[in-house]
Amino acid sequence: MDSYAGIDPLTSELVSVTVDGDTVSAIESHRIDAPWEGRTWIAPGLVDLQVNGFAGFDFNADPPQVEQVIGAARSLLAEGITTFVPTLITASHEQVAARLAVIRQARDQDQLVRTMIPYVHLEGPHLSDQDGARGVHDPAWIRPPSLDEFLDWQRGSGDLVGMVTLSPHYDGSAGYIAALSALSIRVAIGHTHADEDQIGRAVAAGASLSTHLGNGAHPILPRHPNYIWSQLAEDRLTAGFIADGHHLPASTLKAMIRAKGMERSLLVSDAVALAGSPPGRYDTPVGGQVDLSPSGRLTHVGSGLLAGAARSLAYGVATVANGTDLGLAGALDLATAQPGRLARGRGRLSAGGPADLILFYWQPGEPRLTIETVVKAGLRHDHDPGPAGP
Ligand SMILES: [Zn+2]
Repeated sequence: MDSYAGIDPLTSELVSVTVDGDTVSAIESHRIDAPWEGRTWIAPGLVDLQVNGFAGFDFNADPPQVEQVIGAARSLLAEGITTFVPTLITASHEQVAARLAVIRQARDQDQLVRTMIPYVHLEGPHLSDQDGARGVHDPAWIRPPSLDEFLDWQRGSGDLVGMVTLSPHYDGSAGYIAALSALSIRVAIGHTHADEDQIGRAVAAGASLSTHLGNGAHPILPRHPNYIWSQLAEDRLTAGFIADGHHLPASTLKAMIRAKGMERSLLVSDAVALAGSPPGRYDTPVGGQVDLSPSGRLTHVGSGLLAGAARSLAYGVATVANGTDLGLAGALDLATAQPGRLARGRGRLSAGGPADLILFYWQPGEPRLTIETVVKAGLRHDHDPGPAGP
């Protein structure tokens, strides 16, 4: 049995968590009188529902490789992420099938990967083909939904897909969403140009999420109505937000979280493979040359457009804690319990629950949580964070 102690950001009490095997066996809280010198915070491990890659490892690599999945998992763990959902983007039927097969293989052969990945998120290929809305998804492979295609992916991967992002502007979207919902697959609206009626029909059919709301959108929209307001107002949709400090201006992020409410908001990194790399100029296989700035802004050389998100949730939590009135506890909730509800009940510390937790330092104004210790399924991983990276 091991024990871990730190300050609970919500109560400011000293919390001691006892771990037995891969499970939390007891939690005790103690009030502390004196200010805690050099305080270490304690929280559940972070849960990221949208990750394309990390630290040079890419789930959308061609050809896909088991080592990419295992490498990304280990690198994400060092950032305090104990549960993540690999996200596969728009591609051919065979490419998606091959990438799913590799993630399945990685889960089969690596115990850590198996406990970190609850399922896979397919972002595409049934998205808007309009520039702006499609983001960087390849229009050559964007296509209408097909249940046969989805079922083929599930057969080949052992039912590994647990979430699908689509644009509900297609005829037949509602039937497809209803069929996936009946299979307990979560359906998210994203990269869309759907109108309010189409969004309403998608929600009635079972869609329950908005993927990175406010991004994957046209640069210019009618002031109202538009698909952002429609999704903000729909109480049956929980919205994911990219809180890297670049994809949404601080005031937009604050207003959107207020509009959805804490119970319907969560943070995602949407990290690409270059996330976690040192600042500099990089050649990418599909996007050409990109610059990664010291502040974690990833842009195409020449156009200056954003080329993806490059920061882990350890930054996202700090961005929200610094830029809103939610405080550290509220920001953490959006990266633990809220996404954890959609990841088999992770993201909470409770007796009898999974022993996934982090010990970290953070003070207001700092751009990231500095992770000291990660416990995943009861196993301790200590880190020397070194100099703050991108
Ligand atoms: Zn996207």
